[in-house]
Amino acid sequence: MVFRQPLHTALAHALTHLDSLDSCPVGPRTDLASLRRRLDRPLADTGTDPSTVIEDLVADVEGGLNASASGRFFAWVIGGALPAALAADWLTSTWDQNAGIYQCSPAASVVEEVAGTWLKEILGLPPGASFAFVTGCQMAHVTCLAAARHQVLEQHDWNVEKKGLCEAPPVRILASVESHGSVERAIRLLGMGTDHIEHIKPDAESLTAALGRAHGRPLIVLLQAGDVNTGAFDDFASLIPLAHAAGAWVHIDGAFGLWAAASPRFRHLVAGVAGADSWATDGHKWLNVPYDCGYAFVAHPGAHRAAMSYAAGYLPMGDAGRDQIDWTPEFSRRARGFATYAAIRQLGRSGITDLVNRCCLAAQEIVAGLHQVEGVEVLAEPVINQGLVRFPDPSGTDHDRHTDRVISAIQAGGEAYFGGTTWNGMRAMRISVSNWQTGPSEVARTVAAVTACVRAARN
Ligand SMILES: *Cc1c(COP(=O)(O)O)cnc(C)c1O
Repeated sequence: MVFRQPLHTALAHALTHLDSLDSCPVGPRTDLASLRRRLDRPLADTGTDPSTVIEDLVADVEGGLNASASGRFFAWVIGGALPAALAADWLTSTWDQNAGIYQCSPAASVVEEVAGTWLKEILGLPPGASFAFVTGCQMAHVTCLAAARHQVLEQHDWNVEKKGLCEAPPVRILASVESHGSVERAIRLLGMGTDHIEHIKPDAESLTAALGRAHGRPLIVLLQAGDVNTGAFDDFASLIPLAHAAGAWVHIDGAFGLWAAASPRFRHLVAGVAGADSWATDGHKWLNVPYDCGYAFVAHPGAHRAAMSYAAGYLPMGDAGRDQIDWTPEFSRRARGFATYAAIRQLGRSGITDLVNRCCLAAQEIVAGLHQVEGVEVLAEPVINQGLVRFPDPSGTDHDRHTDRVISAIQAGGEAYFGGTTWNGMRAMRISVSNWQTGPSEVARTVAAVTACVRAARN
């Protein structure tokens, strides 16, 4: 069996890698030049034995992988992979299904149908919402905003799928000043143009004023559940009704923050969010599904389907099963529902609640631990799983430079890994916790490592 040897080789290396996550340095350990030297082989005329290909690949990427799946990685919101989700992801590649239409892979279709329904329940979204499994939150924005674009233009008697945008009434987009860059990219991809975005403070007064300025125009309002720096939430209960009264479509960027709904302790933060028109979130962040995995939900299945669906003569469709092509931007696509299905089954409802609570607790404990350390200033206590600190310069000259220097020292140390950000005009270090493997031991090791770097930088 020609598959046996390369798969055994891969399994052995996979287990070695996973076993090392607890002890290995976090962060890349090699440089660009050596990666290029190792990987950039001349394109060969003849093939190579599959196991040799795998052995070489593992050797050549050494040090160039980031142990971002480790419980001591806190830069960006990345998350690890749950064992059942990882195993299901391997099988997804093994089964190699094209999950575009029901007939191509009935099981992939039904698994997405079931997992999509579970996700709506977990996230507290309307049971009647349609959904799509996409590559990540950004493509979930594209999917949702395509539905939004359809609906707000339809209300102005314009069929955008047929007539395009060239002579369409311009769509006005109101977005929070803190909105994530992926929202802007989605708007660019959909041809709506960033000149049509007005950035506003996400409070009732600013929104009301902006809605007044856009009166009578096709209108989309973008709100956020979980800011990338502080984890802050917009006030959905007051903002969504205001936007709806002005005829706007409300889209929620909830890449990780929407998962607050899974915990009774944090659910109040998303109060009212179910009243929106569409929601985008990720599976590969807080649910700890391997990359690539995002979810789009739309409260108006008709608009969602009108924006995405496609029927071609050679595609057998219209069976009672779910044809994913009616809901997703892709044509051929990975059967990415299996990993989500497995993740949700591994954790169950209480396991997901627990995952959210544990990550938030770890973020709080890291920030609280660092708060005790001389030379650390807490800028934002975690609302959920995101906190911000900075490292003031002991000489008082350049706090930003000192903060970046300490972050670099922590990264070089490899015991824990954080990223920097600019927040309110200051350099700061972000503490993002979204990995199921982050527990008390990881928190203690991290606080100790950061403390040591802060002390060393003060001498
Ligand atoms: C990560 C993130 C995104 C983009 O998600 P991808 O999965 O990387 O496409 C959008 N919004 C927020 C708030 C995020 O944290």
